[in-house]
Parts: sequence; structure tokens; C-alpha cells
Amino acid sequence: MIDFQDVTKTYTTNDKQITAVDHVNLSIEQGEIFGVIGFSGAGKSTLIRCVNLLERPDQGKIIVNGTDMLKLSKPELINVRRKIGMIFQHFNLLESKTVFHNVGFPLLLAGVSKQKVKRKVDQLLEFVGLKDKAEHYPEQLSGGQKQRVGIARALATDPEILLCDEATSALDPQTTSSILDLLRKVREEYNITILMITHEMPVIKEICDRVAVMEQGKVIEEGSIFDVFSNP
Ligand code: ADP
Ligand code: ADP
Repeated sequence: MIDFQDVTKTYTTNDKQITAVDHVNLSIEQGEIFGVIGFSGAGKSTLIRCVNLLERPDQGKIIVNGTDMLKLSKPELINVRRKIGMIFQHFNLLESKTVFHNVGFPLLLAGVSKQKVKRKVDQLLEFVGLKDKAEHYPEQLSGGQKQRVGIARALATDPEILLCDEATSALDPQTTSSILDLLRKVREEYNITILMITHEMPVIKEICDRVAVMEQGKVIEEGSIFDVFSNP
């Protein structure tokens, strides 16, 4: 479903080179919840941003559902990106828009009619448990509610993949659990493949089928949760 083949990404700042992602190979299966864990600076965020080409690798291949991402034209990339939803640590909601319009925004951008947008947004707000918050603004919501809006927005264009960039790192443990429950429900209901990065071990243990451990840009271990974390 998502294949990283020998992916390398280097940043150059003030003549200094940092290899943020260093020859990474990973294969994430359809319907899987796959976690990438590592300390801050390990390269997790760069890696996940390579999937939808928010960062362009300077070496290697990203294959998403059989598509070689680096070979797409700009219009093709825009279409493929609609099939890849993303949620963020700080939610990235539009503060000037209501919950309803935050969730509907990607659909309006895709040229979907207002009538269809309404039907879809109503259904998604029901799914994430925020039907009564449609007219609220982000600042009126708790962190967990904001992330529910983020999830609903990410699902608006019927993605096949959901990328989660430290999606629970700004939330307390109880809220984290409720968001992880919702992500499980997303996988079941929509048959979506989930790739998440986090520095939080409990999150990985609670929800992931498989995990990769990153250190200094490299994947140093990979396997089932049991395989990777049962080592002494
Ligand atoms: P993580 O998500 O695991 O914290 P990142 O992918 O954010 O790791 O960062 C990996 C390395 O790349 C770090 O050394 C970081 O400082 C560097 N880095 C990340 N983004 C940039 C950027 N836009 N410009 C320069 N260096 C960057
Ligand atoms: P705009 O003023 O930006 O054109 P509207 O506020 O009129 O947008 O809303 C666009 C569509 O979405 C309309 O069909 C409206 O009825 C519907 N809509 C907006 N907010 C809600 C909501 N909270 N619940 C249900 N439908 C809504």
C-alpha cells in the first residue's frame, strides 16, 4: 500500500548537511495501522511528509497503491493527495471557519456541490461525535474535539490512507485513548491504512499492528509490536 524504497532526504542549512531520512525501506500493508517511533530529530516527520510529497526525497522511491509518487505531474499529484488524509499534532484547523466549514473545505476545493458537501459533512460529524458542534469555531473546542474535527476533515475526500503526525502528542492520556478508539473505528468503518509517527510508546503499544523504530534517519528495527518490544 505504501512502499518506501531506499528513501533519503537531506536538508542543507548554512552549508551544513543533515540527512533527516537515510536509505529507508518500509512496506506498509493495506488496512494496517503502522507506527514509526523515535526520539525528536530522528526523522519521523520528514519520513511521513514524504508519503504525500510535502517533502520530496532526493533519492529513492515512494510507491502508494502502485503509483510511483515522484513520477506524477502536478495535477495528478493533487488528485492522489485527496486519497491521502493527514492529521497533525496542533490540528491545523482554520480558526475563522466553523467546524462545519473546516470539514467541508477540502470538498469545496475539490469542486463538490454544496448539497453533497452538506450530506458528507453531516455524516462525518456524526461519525466523530460532533454533530452538535457544527456551528462552533475551533477556539470553542477542547483539544480532543479539535482532533475529531481534524479526523473528519481528513476523511472528507474518502482517502485510502490516513497519515497521523504526532496526532495525540498535545492531548492528555484519557483524550489520547478516545482518539485512538476513534482511529480504530476509522480503520474498521472505512478500511483505511493508517501510518502514524509518534514519540509516545504507549500509543504505539495500544494501537499499532507493526512498528518501525527510527534513529538518526535510519530504521533500526521493524516488526510486530511483540517482536520489537519483547526484547530485554
Ligand atoms: P522527528 O520528526 O523525528 O522529530 P524531523 O524529521 O523533524 O524528525 O527532523 C529530522 C532532522 O532533520 C532533524 O535534525 C531536524 O533538525 C532536521 N530538519 C527537519 N526539517 C528541516 C528543515 N526544513 N530544514 C532543515 N533541517 C530540518
Ligand atoms: P456560505 O455562506 O459560505 O456560502 P453557508 O453557511 O450558506 O455557506 O453553508 C453552505 C451550505 O452548508 C448550505 O447548504 C448550508 O445550509 C450548509 N450548512 C452550513 N452550516 C451547516 C450546519 N452546521 N449544519 C448543516 N448544514 C450546514
